[in-house]
Amino acid sequence: MPAGMRSGELVHAVVPSPNFGERQLPVTMVVLHYTEMQPVEQALGKLINPDSGVSAHYLISETGTVTQLVPESKRAWHAGVSCWRGITDVNSASVGIELDHPGHAGGYREFADAQIDALIPLLAEIVEDYDIPRANVIGHSDVAPARKADPGELFPWDRLAQYGLCLPKPEKLELGDPFQNDGAFMLALERFGYDITDATAAVTAFQRRWRPEIIDGAIDGQVGAILFQLLLDRDRGLAR
Ligand SMILES: [Zn+2]
Repeated sequence: MPAGMRSGELVHAVVPSPNFGERQLPVTMVVLHYTEMQPVEQALGKLINPDSGVSAHYLISETGTVTQLVPESKRAWHAGVSCWRGITDVNSASVGIELDHPGHAGGYREFADAQIDALIPLLAEIVEDYDIPRANVIGHSDVAPARKADPGELFPWDRLAQYGLCLPKPEKLELGDPFQNDGAFMLALERFGYDITDATAAVTAFQRRWRPEIIDGAIDGQVGAILFQLLLDRDRGLAR
């Protein structure tokens, strides 16, 4: 099956959105979002409205219904002004998946199991078809830390990691803070992939993803140890 033609088991409905263009880059990322708008019909209405200027490739309802809005071969408009690992046209390089969810503004809560159950097999096929590096399965807040917080600290990255669909949390951490100062930490954070123009926002986004227990935008020994181990694993070729 060619990339972009998903089976009816993975994609349950197609509702075309006019909000897309031509890709300028090959697909190397998946960006996950929440809609911050319920019910799901309202989010769908926005994503197919030509006046909204936004879209995504897929929308997954809380009950696990997957709706395709834009063909994967096209550039959907979901990431906005973004940057990841030096790529600033994230829309051209990514598949965008919106998750029906009230978001931080609407009463932030756990993601529904049925929704994640629908996401996992879809994501598995996308990651395999494009050979997407696991470090490039990321959240909107990772590519736009100063503007976005989705999908946020309650998103179950660990479930995706169980299936090898994103980087797992490092198991063993070296004791002590591996970075001599905040500047060294920020340079490492930039090398990992983040836009560090707004340092506090970048640290906050890193915490949301990797140390959700404390999200305060402050660099501490634990976030330093996590970042150091993530980069070490990548440099050793254990992850990419
Ligand atoms: Zn988003």
